[in-house]
Amino acid sequence: MQLDSDIRYLKGVGEVMAKQFAQLGIYTINSLIENYPRKYEDFSVISPVNRIKPGIVTIKATIQHAAGHYVRRGMHITEAIATDTNGSVRLVWFNQPYRAKTLKNDWEYFISGTFEMSHQRFAIMNPSVELVSEFPINTARIRPIYHETKGLTSRQIRSVFKQVLPLIRDIPETLPTWLIQDQHLISYAAALEGIHLPADNQILSKAQERLGFEEVFSLSLASLLNKYEIKNEYAPKVPFDELTAKTFVKHLPFKLTNTQRKIIWQIYLDLQKNHPMNRLVEGDVGSGKTVVAAMAAVMVLQQNHQVAFMAPTEILASQHAETLTKLLQPLGFSQSVGLLVGSMNKDQKRRAHLAINTGKMRFIVGTHTLIQEKVAMNNLELVIIDEQHRFGVEQRKSLIAKAGHMPHTLYLSATPIPRSLALTLYGELDISILDEKPVGRLPIHTEICSPNSRKQIYKKIIHDLKAGRQMFVVCPLIVESEFHHIQSAEEVYKNLSKHDFKEFKIGLLHGQMKAEAKNLIMQSFIDHQIDILVTTTVIEVGVDVPNASIMLIENAEHFGLAQIHQLRGRIGRGVEQGYCYLMMGDSKAPSPRIRAIERSNDGFQLAELDLQLRGPGAIYGTLQHGQLDLRIAKLTDSKLIARARSAAQKFIDNNEDLEKFNHLEERIKKLRTITNLN
Ligand code: ADP
Ligand code: MG
Repeated sequence: MQLDSDIRYLKGVGEVMAKQFAQLGIYTINSLIENYPRKYEDFSVISPVNRIKPGIVTIKATIQHAAGHYVRRGMHITEAIATDTNGSVRLVWFNQPYRAKTLKNDWEYFISGTFEMSHQRFAIMNPSVELVSEFPINTARIRPIYHETKGLTSRQIRSVFKQVLPLIRDIPETLPTWLIQDQHLISYAAALEGIHLPADNQILSKAQERLGFEEVFSLSLASLLNKYEIKNEYAPKVPFDELTAKTFVKHLPFKLTNTQRKIIWQIYLDLQKNHPMNRLVEGDVGSGKTVVAAMAAVMVLQQNHQVAFMAPTEILASQHAETLTKLLQPLGFSQSVGLLVGSMNKDQKRRAHLAINTGKMRFIVGTHTLIQEKVAMNNLELVIIDEQHRFGVEQRKSLIAKAGHMPHTLYLSATPIPRSLALTLYGELDISILDEKPVGRLPIHTEICSPNSRKQIYKKIIHDLKAGRQMFVVCPLIVESEFHHIQSAEEVYKNLSKHDFKEFKIGLLHGQMKAEAKNLIMQSFIDHQIDILVTTTVIEVGVDVPNASIMLIENAEHFGLAQIHQLRGRIGRGVEQGYCYLMMGDSKAPSPRIRAIERSNDGFQLAELDLQLRGPGAIYGTLQHGQLDLRIAKLTDSKLIARARSAAQKFIDNNEDLEKFNHLEERIKKLRTITNLN
């Protein structure tokens, strides 16, 4: 028997059971071992028979007088008496006619079951029994509960699993000895046995700690290895030119915040190296990331290199192109800014391609059209990716590949990811956190609204619309669905147009519309030809409409906190006070989760809360948690993450040879492709 032997090799596993195991993704002995329990039941406390109380109990006793009989058709009862030195208790099994035959008179058993009243008498009902002389797996222990499938119970999985115990005990260590000692971890073999069949709670938690550590350690090591690999690539130095920076700053219509300055300086230090910058700037919506990116770009343009700036939507790309043209005017670079988006006509595209290829267009702003084959860059040395989580790994890689070697790369993200999570997910990046808002920005007034107050809220909104403001209405769905209680954009659009807001111009925008139609609607909202834009989360991404100061979110309870925060970042961008109304689906008291967003204007704090309450998926949907293969470790465990990360750093500093650790190496290989952003 070996780790890669087929599961059918084990006693009791025939074709039928093998199929059931296959449904759980278990084909080999190894996958059986790596199928960790879902939870545990504690049957480990053994009580003297005269002390047992109603509930789950375990006793150690001999069994006498086992006998079965049919009470009526289809109803069989087996009864027996269990006795220890303190007393006796009745055992009862329903419909297990084979039971009596399997029990040996006067042998000592562990007996675990529920002690309760049945037919006016107390008994231990349907207990599991195991001989004390054998290694117990169902009684007298903390017993594992697995994911089950039709016909395959945890009890069966346990009995199959028991056969591989000797093999597990011989499994070699996967981590270096110094690491095990440093971290006070138990061995891999002990952890595997402890996670399935722990002798006690302490061993179970040591097993969880060891396996959880290893998961996060692998992830950290994978991303650090990626990081060093990138650091070893060549990229041309971009020297710091003081005059360029000063001229740029002098002409800004505002003063940079200290944090913006600090981050720009970090970027300039990166650019002055002979190796690619690989930096993520993470900052709340409206924190001013664009100007930071622009300052990176000017240094690169100053060297006559090309810069590509990729944004997830056309509207955003056009807005960026406009903003950047203005920002770069004082330096005389505005002529080199150009746009490349999908909705441009053939001729426009052809001319853009030519300008890009000849290097006439040196600051190229666009959508994913930038990664199309026809686009041939000329001396591309800086890639900026806005709202980076909106792009897949492949898309980001394709743009970077256009440089022909690893260029300097700057990622911008408005998804405030708690630091612990960012370090694990983006371990290969240097991270700058832009957590200071430009001064003088009015915090958005956020209010949870019960449906009863709808008319009243509408009155206030109508007043503001008449004063010249504009409003977003955000719905969780596009079209009506079987969930009648959830508002859809189409429905709301119709209703508002017909009833309460019929005196205003209303537009509808959602993700299923064609890009052209979307642009048209968005443009007319920007130009204030539309007062109210009914939409979905498509507007989450950074579009700037300073006059839109009102947002109404329907069925707010269906959104994540970080998401609502992103959404409301669309308003309050101008001089007017922003109002965000969170309309609840019903008039029940809102949850503390939703309440939090009324109080806090801090995206990081809300993301942290979302992470605690709803897990990483709530914040970071695109990278599937499952892919990271964290089965034991929790990404909310910041202590574990810090430990694992510094251990991974030490592993590299010690020049450990990964090839000496097969199991780890295999895992790392897989993880490197998942975590690799480049
Ligand atoms: P985001 O981080 O969401 O991409 P933007 O870069 O779009 O934010 O900036 C939002 C707005 O804040 C823009 O209108 C920008 O001009 C302005 N802004 C940026 N930095 C500052 C600052 N230091 N002081 C005042 N306004 C600023
Ligand atoms: Mg932005």
